Amino acid sequence: MTAVPGKSCGACNLCCQILDIDELEKKAGILCENCVNGSGCAIYHTRPQVCRDFECEWLTERSLPATLKPDRTGTLFLICPETDQYQAVTDPKQPKAWRHPLVFKHLIAKAKEGHVVVAKSGMLSWRVYPTGECAPWT
Ligand code: SF4
Ligand code: SF4
Repeated sequence: MTAVPGKSCGACNLCCQILDIDELEKKAGILCENCVNGSGCAIYHTRPQVCRDFECEWLTERSLPATLKPDRTGTLFLICPETDQYQAVTDPKQPKAWRHPLVFKHLIAKAKEGHVVVAKSGMLSWRVYPTGECAPWT
């Protein structure tokens, strides 16, 4: 996958905060120490492969509008490579961001497409069903 033409990360750095990066011994939810606000990654040319490879769903999916950009919603969408779940992972500072009407509407639409949709906020997870119902998920 590559970024859709016209889309770029810009000032967003939510994945540099949300993701767990073993190569950097960086825990999920903590902003990477190499992330320099306003100027991006301080080790851009030598950043780990996992950073080079990662692209969120917003960046690669043409149908996701600007209003769902991760730094606007506090929610990053990804397809988990291990489970194939469609995940909405929230900014730790905005734990309820996945319940924002625009985000939630998108999650229901993905569930209706047949995805197993899981919203994650810190250590807590919820399954989102096509009906709009949610239930704690382990
Ligand atoms: S969360 Fe998506 S848009 Fe934001 S920096 Fe990461 S890849 Fe780019
Ligand atoms: S090394 Fe750079 S790209 Fe990777 S998480 Fe840190 S700031 Fe982001």
